[in-house]
Amino acid sequence: MKQIAVIGSGTMGNGIAHTFAQFNYQVNLIDINQPALDKALATIGKNLDRQVSKGTLTIEQKAVTLQNITTFTTIEEGVKNADLIVEAATENVELKLKIFKDLDQYAPAHAILASNTSSISITQIAAVTKRGDKVIGMHFMNPVPVMKLVEVIRGYATSDETTNIIMSLSQNLEKVPVEVNDYPGFVANRILMPMINEAIYTLYEGVAGVYEIDTVMKLGMAHPMGPLQLADFIGLDVCLAILKVLHDGFGNPKYAPCPLLVNMVAAGKKGAKTGEGFYHYTTGSKELIVSDKFKKS
Ligand code: NAD
Repeated sequence: MKQIAVIGSGTMGNGIAHTFAQFNYQVNLIDINQPALDKALATIGKNLDRQVSKGTLTIEQKAVTLQNITTFTTIEEGVKNADLIVEAATENVELKLKIFKDLDQYAPAHAILASNTSSISITQIAAVTKRGDKVIGMHFMNPVPVMKLVEVIRGYATSDETTNIIMSLSQNLEKVPVEVNDYPGFVANRILMPMINEAIYTLYEGVAGVYEIDTVMKLGMAHPMGPLQLADFIGLDVCLAILKVLHDGFGNPKYAPCPLLVNMVAAGKKGAKTGEGFYHYTTGSKELIVSDKFKKS
């Protein structure tokens, strides 16, 4: 397994391409237009510079990593020699089903088709292809070059052989793969999202403020950041979408998204990427500043 194609060059796609390329795989990075790909290459370059300045990578390794990445704007061209395709396009069922139909058509017959989806059923994705045994979830965490976990998700039809290949490939990237079955939210988001939702309910019901809730979880539970800050980083729209998948998938009211989360997404306050969520991200300050909406009078 030498030739990897990555679909989508956003937050996750550029991190996945960076990681494979750093470990000497040849990577074809595919997105819908060249400006998105140029932005991704610039981000990868900046992240590699950070590794060089920390002493975890040499300048020569940085150059080789960048040389290992080639960009494409069509799936047909980008996947024709691939042994593995990792799809990291926007989290939208219809889009992913369309992409997997195309992958099944254009990727070599031996290629494994993996998705980095946070919550969409691998079984449903596999069902639009004629190679369900070779479709699997490869759920990297953000930021990919730094985070050790890969949640490896077996769909209903995924074979032992495919699972074993992806488990050992993840180890080649110096990651720790964990095998899980395909049910809503898998493991990571099934546990994380109810905690984030409960933190938002705690704020909504006036039990405590943003700073207080995050501080309790940081200092009391030794979490590196509080659940509200984490929600801002993940994206509140993404959190809402995953909670809806859990709610629909299990039909259990305990997963119902907090109305405050629904309102914030409707108001366009989606967290760090929009400049505001529970905190402000436009001040340039390294200190966390609680959004005016949640400031105590
Ligand atoms: P993003 O919005 O940053 O990037 C998505 C990219 O996909 C964009 O560059 C977009 O142009 C591209 N794209 C859309 N349609 C495409 C197509 N037809 N062909 C090629 N490229 C296409 O999203 P992201 O945060 O990188 O998320 C990508 C996937 O990773 C989603 O499935 C998400 O659930 C999952 N994920 C995200 C995180 C996270 O923290 N952001 C963590 C784990 C998993």
